[in-house]
Amino acid sequence: MGLEEELNKCVHCGFCLEACPTYSVTRSEIHSPRGRITAVKLGIPSEGLDTCVYCRRCELACPSGVKYSEIITSVRKANPLEKIMLKILEKPSLIQMFNIIKEVKANKPLEYSDKNPEIILFPGCITSVFFRDTVEKALNFLKRQGYTVEILNGCCGLAHEHVGEKNRSKELISKVGKEFEGKTVISLSSNCTAHMKENGLNVYDFGEFLIKMDVPLPFIEGEVTVHEPCHANLLGLNKYTRQVLSKMGVKIKESEEPSYECGAGGDYFIFHKEMSEKIMMTKKEKVMKSGLTTVISTNPSCSIAFLKMGLKPKHLADLL
Ligand code: SF4
Ligand code: SF4
Repeated sequence: MGLEEELNKCVHCGFCLEACPTYSVTRSEIHSPRGRITAVKLGIPSEGLDTCVYCRRCELACPSGVKYSEIITSVRKANPLEKIMLKILEKPSLIQMFNIIKEVKANKPLEYSDKNPEIILFPGCITSVFFRDTVEKALNFLKRQGYTVEILNGCCGLAHEHVGEKNRSKELISKVGKEFEGKTVISLSSNCTAHMKENGLNVYDFGEFLIKMDVPLPFIEGEVTVHEPCHANLLGLNKYTRQVLSKMGVKIKESEEPSYECGAGGDYFIFHKEMSEKIMMTKKEKVMKSGLTTVISTNPSCSIAFLKMGLKPKHLADLL
């Protein structure tokens, strides 16, 4: 469907407004999905086009099926600083050199390969650097289950799509697609999993693999609250996280609106600090309704947001 047809599907009903984190913290039409669509339709410049977190919660809320992501990515252009950031994200080893997040130490990405590996473990660009222990725990767990594994550090192109660099995003997805050929692929970054699935790649989210392959899991006593990463939510992947926790006997105490945006939005929190912090404050209030500070987060930029909020994010792999 072309851009014009997509724009014409919007009937301006406003059902998407309350789903939108930037609208919920500003109450401004400019920073709402409807306002952004109107700006694109009229071809007028709008600050709101830059402030979109690209969480796509509006797509889930829209009764007319407007594919908002097609609209926003057709008008966005990365600024020079964002372009540099995207280049860095393409090579996880470079991220380590630019340690830009003070709440978490950057590491050298873990490299590992068994002979003739049957599984590719795909951490995603920033998990391998900022959450190296998580990658190591996932690797060791899979090996204990008898799988042969290779770690493939790379970038799926989701961050590029965020800012309208669609061609480069397609190039990257096609590159990882070729590297995945003939292998079972497990991703440790749920929003990357969703992006790769939407682009036709046959990949499992970590929790999805554990459930679908009926992998034996340890019993763990404890209580957590669950965050539902936005793009994974679009594809219904977060149910596997809950199923894994329930299989392990971990009690889930619900926060308010677990799928509410964390405020990180890929690298949004670097380039839109003020809006990002407002969203993070709202998210923290919602998480605190659970009475817990340990949050299961299976997406790395969300986990960085939780660290910034002073909370304790844990990936499912951290429990194994
Ligand atoms: S995007 Fe969908 S929900 Fe939002 S105003 Fe348009 S038609 Fe309504
Ligand atoms: S993608 Fe997210 S931030 Fe952007 S308009 Fe939709 S709901 Fe709002």
